[in-house]
Amino acid sequence: MTIKDIYDTMDWGKAPESDGEVQAWLEAHDRKFGLFIDGKWTAPGETFEARNPADGALLAEVTKAGLDDVNAAVAAAKRAQGKWAGLSGHARAKYLYALARLVQKHSRLLAVLETMDNGKPIRESRDIDVPLVARHFYYHAGMAQLMERELPDREAMGVAGHIIPWNFPLLMLAWKVAPALAMGNTVVLKPASATSLSAVLFAHLTQEAGLPPGVFNLTTGPGRIGTVLCEHPDVDKIAFTGSTEVGRLIRHATAGSGKGLTLELGGKSPYIVFDDADIDSAIEGLVDAIWFNQGQVCCAGSRLIVQEGISERFYAKLKTRMDKLRVGDPLDKSIDVGAIIDRGQLESIARMVEQGGKAGEVYQAACALPNQGCYYPPTLITGLSPAAELMQEEIFGPVLVATTFRTPAEAVELANNTRYGLAATVWSENMNLALDVAPKLAAGVVWLNTTNAFDAAAGFGGVRESGFGREGGWEGLLAYTKPRRKTKALTPLVAFPAPKDATVDTLDRTAKFFIGGKQTRPDGGYSRAIWSKHGKLLGHAGLANRKDIRNAVEAARGAGAWAKATAHLRAQILFYIGENLSARTEEFAARINALTGLRNGAREVETAIERLFTWAAWCDKYDGAVKPVPMRGAALATHEPVGVVGIFCPDEAPLLGLVSLMAPAIAMGNRVVLAASQPYPLAATDFYQVLETSDVPPGVVNILTGFHNDVATTLAGHLDVDAVWAHSGADLSALVEHEAAGNLKRSWVNNARARDWFGPDGEGREFLHHATEVKTTWIPWGE
Ligand code: NDP
Repeated sequence: MTIKDIYDTMDWGKAPESDGEVQAWLEAHDRKFGLFIDGKWTAPGETFEARNPADGALLAEVTKAGLDDVNAAVAAAKRAQGKWAGLSGHARAKYLYALARLVQKHSRLLAVLETMDNGKPIRESRDIDVPLVARHFYYHAGMAQLMERELPDREAMGVAGHIIPWNFPLLMLAWKVAPALAMGNTVVLKPASATSLSAVLFAHLTQEAGLPPGVFNLTTGPGRIGTVLCEHPDVDKIAFTGSTEVGRLIRHATAGSGKGLTLELGGKSPYIVFDDADIDSAIEGLVDAIWFNQGQVCCAGSRLIVQEGISERFYAKLKTRMDKLRVGDPLDKSIDVGAIIDRGQLESIARMVEQGGKAGEVYQAACALPNQGCYYPPTLITGLSPAAELMQEEIFGPVLVATTFRTPAEAVELANNTRYGLAATVWSENMNLALDVAPKLAAGVVWLNTTNAFDAAAGFGGVRESGFGREGGWEGLLAYTKPRRKTKALTPLVAFPAPKDATVDTLDRTAKFFIGGKQTRPDGGYSRAIWSKHGKLLGHAGLANRKDIRNAVEAARGAGAWAKATAHLRAQILFYIGENLSARTEEFAARINALTGLRNGAREVETAIERLFTWAAWCDKYDGAVKPVPMRGAALATHEPVGVVGIFCPDEAPLLGLVSLMAPAIAMGNRVVLAASQPYPLAATDFYQVLETSDVPPGVVNILTGFHNDVATTLAGHLDVDAVWAHSGADLSALVEHEAAGNLKRSWVNNARARDWFGPDGEGREFLHHATEVKTTWIPWGE
């Protein structure tokens, strides 16, 4: 027998992690758990089973919360919130630090429990999930400590409802609970019903840490508990991770409620391999990208896009590597791929491969599978067309689909050919190429020559239908804080009525729309007269219809080059708009006075000019960051434009309101479709003459007039609009947020609260936040 024969026939022995401590802990609680509300455990009520997906063994019974329980948990969280937020940041930091230490102290127990409840390999729960959980509590202990000094203008949202999935039960808990508590929120957590146990153990740790009653509450149970939380009037913020379908339902359920919302949803993340990549490393990365946690990962690199010249060699090597993967008992320390969460998910994966795989070639790893339990072999499907279902839909299992490309431009096009935008990976030894491709990818996170890197200091989250909001980093705190500001209810304004003895104007003074850099007549041919307070006809404003909105969105889409224009160029144009407006100050002031019937016109124009200068200034000063992540390399956080933003302008300040929203949006590289002040639209139609003389590229700013309610559905629901801002005097918040659910676009609505456009609230970092997405690009270095 040769040494090679020995290597080829050698097998791994079993290296099982003991489940003794977990079994003892479960036994100590009679394998039955109640709910954790107001710092106390309820007696177990009606229960559901927690089973080990690896062998089907019953682990424990967990209480199914009812409506009264959720109400009690929310009430406890509400009672506790003021006092918790009122503690010093240092006091909260000590609790978070205690939690971090307790997670470390009980790390083995947590890891084994997580593996038994979820089916993920112990190597992952022990070396990745639980250390990251501790890291999040440490990091946010620091954020609590720094809050008063570093975020003096922001305060807690209130009661946070957290709804988390089964794929990273404890890690998702940490991603949400740590920042929420750090910023002074209290929490009601609903874990996935398939995986409640690590949340139950965590609740015990909060007791051990002496967390005040009501600060953290746990309501286990089915999906409808999540619905109740979303609809509860005393919940101020919902943070959800899970499927895009449920994310959409939650968007609907919370629309117009004033609740803060962050959604971290599905993905079909591209994994791009250029022909100059270090192929062996790229293959190891791919093993991590798609077989980590059995592929049940929202940001799994589930779509391999490999350069044509190396594709055959790459597939061959990949298949060899797949055959060496070890699938089996998740508690075995030398297992690569564990169990699928449950039979339903297993069947769904098998069905998708069975049906969708026919269009391509299916390769399944020649590795042995256990006879019982929920296991699926590592699978590669090649030869599918980019539009094939399996290339587009999330399989959420250990199944990789693959296609090839020839040029970098084609790679980007294929990568972005998805409704999702969570993560992307690029492998190339040419960093110039990789760094050129990264900004072109529609994704919240990009990994260059690495994959699945996560850290509390680096923001994580998606664009498009992968949701909105970031978790981690300074940017993650925005989801758990709100501006410290007292607001008043918005008083709706109505246009001045036509006088009884109105005379017909023989001269047509119907102001046109401004679309794609051109003055355009309303498609429907309708307009309305605009009267002064004293009954003078000031002009006519067109009434936009659905077609006008579509044309304006199309023009804005077509102006994509603006996103790539230098910040310096954008600044010059904004300064120039300000200069050109200032040349017409008197005319605009008189127009605003005539429209509003007030004498505030001159001040409004002056403030608008100043604001244009403010946003011109910001163009090249909204820096990104290099995040101090525990990796030799950098995680770059860069600000990218959101895309096309639909904006309903405020009624009361017809010029300043429009400028205050348009300018930050275009300063950050967005293109806008503006619905002008409803009662006083003519300031906006005069303003496009200023834009025409200020070198604003066609399509960057588009202006429509009409009734906001008539066009809100079309603009907010348009699939080519990436964000919608509703600051209208008409109460559009609920409608806009409902419609935004279609493509899960970001929304920023006023909830019928007034804003002082003249004061500091009319500008500031809040606007920058809404005008940008943070992209985190991970760049390891070293040979
Ligand atoms: P869901 O989105 O259904 O579940 C996520 C969480 O939401 C769970 O706590 C769930 O509770 C809860 N929930 C379910 N329905 C509602 C509702 N109407 N309102 C509020 N909360 C609700 O994901 P699934 O677990 O059902 O998985 C389905 C698919 O979703 C997977 O196959 C995968 O494609 C995708 N998925 C994506 C994840 C991601 O990280 N992006 C994570 C998990 C799944 P309960 O568990 O009790 O139903």
